[in-house]
Amino acid sequence: MTAIVALLAACTADRDDPLIFGTRLPPAAEQGTAADAASAQAPAQTPLPPMSMNEIAVSYVKLVLALGELDDGYVDAYYGPPEWRDQAKAQKLTAAQIEAQSQLLIARLINTEPDNLPADPELAKLRKSYLRNQIGALSARAAMLQGRKFSFDDEARALYDVEPPHYPETYFQPALKQLDALLPKGPGTLAQRYNRYVDSYAVPKDKLQSVMRAAIGYAQLHVRPHLELPQGEHFELALVGDKPWSAYNWYQGNYYSRIEVNADLPVSILRVIQLASHEGYPGHHVYNSLLEKDLVRGQGWPEYQVYPLYSPQSFIAEGSADFGVELTFPDAQRLNFERELFDLAGFDAAQVDTYDRVVRAAKALHPAEIEAARRYLDGHMDAESTANWLQIYTLATPEYARRRIAFFDHYRSYIINYSYGEELVRRYVEAKGGSEAGSDAQWRAYIRLLTTPRVATELQ
Ligand SMILES: [Zn+2]
Repeated sequence: MTAIVALLAACTADRDDPLIFGTRLPPAAEQGTAADAASAQAPAQTPLPPMSMNEIAVSYVKLVLALGELDDGYVDAYYGPPEWRDQAKAQKLTAAQIEAQSQLLIARLINTEPDNLPADPELAKLRKSYLRNQIGALSARAAMLQGRKFSFDDEARALYDVEPPHYPETYFQPALKQLDALLPKGPGTLAQRYNRYVDSYAVPKDKLQSVMRAAIGYAQLHVRPHLELPQGEHFELALVGDKPWSAYNWYQGNYYSRIEVNADLPVSILRVIQLASHEGYPGHHVYNSLLEKDLVRGQGWPEYQVYPLYSPQSFIAEGSADFGVELTFPDAQRLNFERELFDLAGFDAAQVDTYDRVVRAAKALHPAEIEAARRYLDGHMDAESTANWLQIYTLATPEYARRRIAFFDHYRSYIINYSYGEELVRRYVEAKGGSEAGSDAQWRAYIRLLTTPRVATELQ
């Protein structure tokens, strides 16, 4: 999801197995005329006629739309032909049919030569790997909808192509200690002191729209010198409520995003800065716009017209959106940016340095959410102990901890895409573009990452 962290058995078949003609298929009559993958009707062991990469990609898009009919929120964005969606609605494929057809599509993909792209042979290889992983995740999600259970780590591997790291409690101690030293002394736990401090920088509700808009505009201004944004790209900003996330980017195609910010909870000035980059520039809005410009329109690749939420693409989307904050605003620029926003929101700009140190220290606690989700979803901690754990190691308020658990219930292992996604994107950008934050070389590496088909294994 394009939401910034908010409020939310190995795959039945080994995804590296060149399966799968033995997959049990429903009778042909039940399958609908559907997704071109419905060559699923070919008898087992019969060689299937070759498909081009684009034909495979179209079948993939149609299967994603078919699963979207069964799984609310699965299709995060779609701006391909409307009749493909109508077709998915009419066909009513079952999750079992979608899983079987995905497996057949993988088998066909494995036997398909990447299209010849002499200008950039790496691109052809990456495209095939991307499709292979996206279709594998589609199959795993279809299996989950049929009731198949995965452990947290197996689910993350199956859906996001990652091996999620484990964090012992000791991992978070240095940051907690640092925060204890930085925060104003006072009564209560560290979490209470932290939240009193952060809440004192909550943007007043009547200023939220204008501060948010200014922050996105400022981020846009800083991104422009580094990359060529498509002509006419634009966004709409709306404040909403009663959502399980804190913000969401709904990409509509034609270089246009609707960015929604959940205004139910206080939005701290820190959140404003993160959201501006994460949802807007150079995060989700830029990522989706560049994919549309370079891959959908430029290369003519249909697969990028759809964005399935529970898929390896989300690891790149969330990781690059989170990393984009520090790429766009290395230390000095970030402090300037924060000063301007402090002024705008009516806070004392002289406090920016301390505030920034607190924010940086607290960031080191983000991976604790992965650990909390794993322990909770794998049944090692119940909701109450998870809420307590989140208050100790992420310094959440009781209310925010409750929202996080609701997020885990709904989005499950999706949580790994944020802090761990950011870490792998950072490693990739530093390996390709050096360690100087915000340098031209880092930007080139970042743009290459955004405009080529990637899954997590292709970051390493
Ligand atoms: Zn996001």
